[in-house]
Amino acid sequence: MPLGETLISESEIRARIRELARELQAALPPGPLHCVVVLKSAIFFAVDLVRSLGREATLGFISAASYGEGTESGGQVRLGLEAAGRVEGRHVFLIDDILDTGHTLLAAREALRGLRPASLRTCVLLDKPSRRRVKIEADHAGFTIEDVFVVGYGLDCAEAYRTLPDIRAYRPDGPDTEEKPG
Ligand code: 5GP
Ligand code: MG
Repeated sequence: MPLGETLISESEIRARIRELARELQAALPPGPLHCVVVLKSAIFFAVDLVRSLGREATLGFISAASYGEGTESGGQVRLGLEAAGRVEGRHVFLIDDILDTGHTLLAAREALRGLRPASLRTCVLLDKPSRRRVKIEADHAGFTIEDVFVVGYGLDCAEAYRTLPDIRAYRPDGPDTEEKPG
């Protein structure tokens, strides 16, 4: 069983999103927002966060694929911006699932910047600072985690495990940590 221990439970995620929403209310410029979500893993987080913000928001999406080896993204990120919506002159809020090497968020942020938003802030659910390869920090982050591959709450491994309510370690060779009833 490749699923390892629970790192962040559903209730911890919910509580942190409420806190983040309060933090963001103070940090984001007033008025309507244009939220741009990086497909697909960030969708679960973005939906919960944007609803908690309780303010007028439009949604756009961008796709990101990186050429790289194994589980690590390479420096070349291919972005799909066709569903990003109108960015120019708007207060844009970029949402991604996890900041790992940093290539993806950097590429997405710079591409949006090129579309001349009125302002741009970034938010990720998870941050793995020990894995960073390029100099970038998110303006807001939900949780800082160790260097471990995680799944659940939108995050996948080859499209599996997205619908798990908690964030769990994924350990293909690890011991069976499934809780047994009784
Ligand atoms: P970066 O470009 O920062 O290296 O990678 C960011 C992307 O890699 C994330 O948006 C995510 O899709 C994927 N990624 C990085 N670490 C993990 C992880 O621990 N679990 C999963 N499921 N995806 C990850
Ligand atoms: Mg992603």
